[in-house]
Amino acid sequence: MSIQDIQENLRMIRERIDQACHDCGRDPHGVRLVAVSKTKPAADVLAAFAAGQKLFGESYVQEFTDKAEQVEAPVEWHFIGHLQSNKAKYLRGRVRMIHSVDRLSLAREINRQWERIDERLEVLVQVNLAGEQSKSGVAPQEAPALVRKLSELPHLRVRGLMTLPPFFEDPQAVRPYFRQLRELSEEIAGLDLPGVGMDELSMGMSHDFPAAIAEGATLVRVGTAIFGARETP
Ligand SMILES: *Cc1c(COP(=O)(O)O)cnc(C)c1O
Repeated sequence: MSIQDIQENLRMIRERIDQACHDCGRDPHGVRLVAVSKTKPAADVLAAFAAGQKLFGESYVQEFTDKAEQVEAPVEWHFIGHLQSNKAKYLRGRVRMIHSVDRLSLAREINRQWERIDERLEVLVQVNLAGEQSKSGVAPQEAPALVRKLSELPHLRVRGLMTLPPFFEDPQAVRPYFRQLRELSEEIAGLDLPGVGMDELSMGMSHDFPAAIAEGATLVRVGTAIFGARETP
């Protein structure tokens, strides 16, 4: 993708986000675009940044730390991929949010790392709604108990939920999953856990973000539609 292509794609995605908000009566300020730059070079991040994009999502620790060093612009990084506990230290102080916390052991390690810099990291709990073997995430029925445990960790702040639902050709077919994540988030909010906010819903990707917005997404994670197809590793 050329710089112009990336910037034009971004403009179109922002328009479609605005349109999706308009269609369901939401304020577009309530939806943030996470530009997913995994597998793409630092130059692509800078092209998007030059067009006003400040928030980027990455999935692979080593690739992210290399890239973050090359990006000398004040971007906000979110980590959205599966995270091994022993790699949390490489993200310490470098990311604003981790979307993929799905087990207590990982949360404890993140807590330990962020304690060292005396900061509190915003996290989302990843939920595996369809019980897919190939995907990370806590089972929905176990999510409330996990959030309760996380609320006891002083260097974490739970802000909401994230999901990566099954793929359907028809983006409308995935809507029940997005709705289910919203309902689960409302259920957990009802527990009134100290320090826990359930105000963020990270859901929706390139081909289904309008449906996710219709169901309440506050963070949409869009890669391919901005930066082009990725090489499959
Ligand atoms: C890669 C990735 C995305 C972006 O997917 P696209 O289909 O390229 O928009 C979103 N979320 C997660 C967790 C990802 O790993």
